[in-house]
Amino acid sequence: MFKSAFLSLLGAAAMLAQTPAPTAQPSPLEFGVANMDTSVDPCADFYQYACGTWLKKNPAPPDQARWGRFSEMEERNRDVLHGILEEAASPSPSRDPVTRQIGDYYAACMDEKAIDARGLKPIESELARIRGLKNKPALAGEIAHLHGIGVGALFSFSSGQDFKNSDQVIAQADQGGLGMPDRDYYFKEDAKSAELRARYVEHVGRMFELMGEPAAQAKAGADTVMKIETAIARGSLDLVSRRDPSKVYHKLGMAGVQALSPLFSWKEYLRASGSPEFQSINVASPDFFKAVNSAIRDFTLAQWKTYLTWQLVHSVARLLPTPFVQENFNYFGKTLSGTETLRPRWKRCADYTDAKLGEALGRKFVEKTFGEEGKERTLKMVAALETALGQDIDGLTWMTGPTKQKALEKLHAIANKIGYPDKWRDYSSVVIQPDDPVGNNFRADNFEFHRELNKIGKPVDRAEWEMTPPTVNAYYDALMNNINFPAGILQPPFFDKREDDAVNFGGIGMVIGHELTHGFDDEGRQFDPQGNLKDWWTPEDGKEFERRVACIDQEYSKFEVAPGAHVNGKLTLGENTADNGGLRIALMALVNTIGNTGEKTGGFTPEQRMFLSFGQIWCENAREEVLRLQVQTDPHSPSRARVNGVVQNMPEFQKAFSCKAGQPMVSADACHVW
Ligand SMILES: [Zn+2]
Repeated sequence: MFKSAFLSLLGAAAMLAQTPAPTAQPSPLEFGVANMDTSVDPCADFYQYACGTWLKKNPAPPDQARWGRFSEMEERNRDVLHGILEEAASPSPSRDPVTRQIGDYYAACMDEKAIDARGLKPIESELARIRGLKNKPALAGEIAHLHGIGVGALFSFSSGQDFKNSDQVIAQADQGGLGMPDRDYYFKEDAKSAELRARYVEHVGRMFELMGEPAAQAKAGADTVMKIETAIARGSLDLVSRRDPSKVYHKLGMAGVQALSPLFSWKEYLRASGSPEFQSINVASPDFFKAVNSAIRDFTLAQWKTYLTWQLVHSVARLLPTPFVQENFNYFGKTLSGTETLRPRWKRCADYTDAKLGEALGRKFVEKTFGEEGKERTLKMVAALETALGQDIDGLTWMTGPTKQKALEKLHAIANKIGYPDKWRDYSSVVIQPDDPVGNNFRADNFEFHRELNKIGKPVDRAEWEMTPPTVNAYYDALMNNINFPAGILQPPFFDKREDDAVNFGGIGMVIGHELTHGFDDEGRQFDPQGNLKDWWTPEDGKEFERRVACIDQEYSKFEVAPGAHVNGKLTLGENTADNGGLRIALMALVNTIGNTGEKTGGFTPEQRMFLSFGQIWCENAREEVLRLQVQTDPHSPSRARVNGVVQNMPEFQKAFSCKAGQPMVSADACHVW
């Protein structure tokens, strides 16, 4: 919890490799100029000015919900992962154990013919277990078993840092068990939401039909699934509430958690899950577990079997025979995201290998691509950004001395993790077979489930990574107070060693600034330098902070991304605050580094180049469906808002492009937090 990523996790897969760009390729700003639409006034719509020609030339391909600068790199670079996996998949006796695991996982996933021939055989014993449940008390043990193979039935159980004692790991139970993207999908009353619900029920019904059920029975089953999910959704917290740490921290003992849901035996659940014993558990959303209790009371055992069957088949649909894959895509890819066709199988299988054996594949990826030079240069930029944020905090007019001092303490305590883990995760206990894709998935998930549970009661491991090395993303972790930059993001157009500082500070510099700012957004500011939930603000400074972020909330809430679909200013508040602070301190770091030279390169001043570099990271075409999904579920604003929302708050931008008061990129009530 409270890990703030840089990029949206929706749509485009988040993987690419660290390949050096071909030498003939123009530098980012050169191909940047070709991407611009210079007929647009930068002060009227900077995003359009920076990206206009690119947007026209690069519609989303049929197999993508969104298509941006990231995706271009991704396509080119995923070829590297493809190479690693294809080579690893050929059953040579000389393969080392790590190569054999990723190779066999990938090979099993790729063998579509064998998957089709096996039908439902790989999940038959699991289906029989569910059918054989004798009574409702037996649900606890079965749900523990399902959690152990990666099926997200009913709720989630894992481990996490104690919010108020961040060195210690405790047990953690949280809401879950829904098939649609978020609880609000079950209740919103507009026509679009009603349609998505109707289509979801149809989808569940078709999956039951594919499993061999007669149409009427399948339809009744789908209605049951919808009823149970709606009942537990009613007890679920909404996404905005979940950004408030105090709303998702309820430390209880065993008696406390059992009292929330008397009809669900926690004792049996913990026995069956193989969890270590513990004294304390964070029940993130107690009301949810009360709703679980009511649902156990209100639905019959037969109805629960239907729900669990759905959860099982849903969780492995992507590795079942073609009709299941296609039907799963029809709802989640097409209806919810607007994608027209499935991606080629090898791309999907590469992504699944990354998801399940990420530090094994990542290890090979790093061996091939990531050099020490990348790490050193990134650390140097991190230092420049830290200095700039320190200056920014020092110079704030709205914050008093005592809070400034604490803020600087926290800034200096932020740990930096660059590239990849010092110690690779050891998957050697996971049995991976070249002819058992579903079993491989169950066993990899089982490994992960127990890896998490085994942390309960132990001191926290601050060296662990939450993202795999090939991931094109970065994150700040509020409970760790650290920033994390996987190898996958440390490359063009974010970071290009052939480019000047202006371009790099607008790219990776802004990303570093963004992550640092997360330590001081509405969520991050509630944690102290050690990652404990503890208020270190004077009341007046806290109040002023709230007033300033309310400005950002109101500003972004005005962006309409599709008819009737607005950015949710509260859901995206932390990310928008981080974007605004990130770019501002990136500019400070640039000026610290090169001074105010004003010297033009390719017709642009360093400041202009920095803003263009920033703007062009976000050139992206996204389908209406995925934009609607994004504003409902993603804490990140869509691209256009991420660019224009920031620059309209910045006098530095307005000066760089000679904008005048009254123009759209000159906000009359500019917001300024960091
Ligand atoms: Zn972020």
